[in-house]
Amino acid sequence: MANLPKMAEIWQKTLNWQPTNLQENQFEQLYQLIIGGNRQINLTRITEPEEFWEKHLWDSLRGIAPKQIFIPGIDRGKRIIDIGTGAGFPGLPIALIFPNSQVTLLDSTGKKINFIETVLSALALNNAKTLLGRAEEIGQQYEHRQNYDVAVIRAVGNVSVCAEYSLPLVRKGGLAIIYRGSWSEAENESLETAIEQLGGVVELIEEFSTPLSNSMRHCLYLRKVTNTPISFPRGVGIPSQKPI
Ligand code: SAM
Repeated sequence: MANLPKMAEIWQKTLNWQPTNLQENQFEQLYQLIIGGNRQINLTRITEPEEFWEKHLWDSLRGIAPKQIFIPGIDRGKRIIDIGTGAGFPGLPIALIFPNSQVTLLDSTGKKINFIETVLSALALNNAKTLLGRAEEIGQQYEHRQNYDVAVIRAVGNVSVCAEYSLPLVRKGGLAIIYRGSWSEAENESLETAIEQLGGVVELIEEFSTPLSNSMRHCLYLRKVTNTPISFPRGVGIPSQKPI
């Protein structure tokens, strides 16, 4: 099986950062585990080494580096939740490079959570844990609601669904980061309406392209400024059926 490319210069140029040898080895191990896991369950269609590097590793880490610099203090015990993590993106690469952060990987599919459990033990990754459940329910649970410094969410739903899943989980002053491909003015309007009701404001919308295939990306950084009303998130299925 082919190995992942290292891309030291691109890491440096795009994120002002380079992985250590240990982190490079862990990225490689993660890649091999996902390719192996893909034979049993459908984890990802992105399997070619360069594409995997760009769309899973680089993209995951670029999102937590607004303005190409990692969020200050993210490695100092920050609580991070990845909502709808799937095969572990963006949460697993974040946990790998910030061993002092505490990363919760949430997904509603048991098979994916079981797979991630095997990855966590294979990589001896003890700053990450899994959580099986629906964001609509987890967001109403005392131990999770308004408990996280940062929530990340990629490819889970439209923008108001992502905002309704993520903002209730973020503490006041914390950040929800919505990873997107394209972005339009019309979406901007629905975002404003949604986040106003959820206690957030738009701090930054960043547009950039990926370094190998030059694909368009947008990351939305939402700052939580007031408590989310208890009526959000609404019940299972409602955010996607009737977006705010
Ligand atoms: N975030 C990953 C990525 O970008 O590669 C996976 C994206 S995958 C398209 C969407 C994932 O979100 C699936 O694994 C699905 O089980 C999960 N999901 C969808 N709705 C959810 C919900 N309401 N609560 C928790 N997980 C959810």
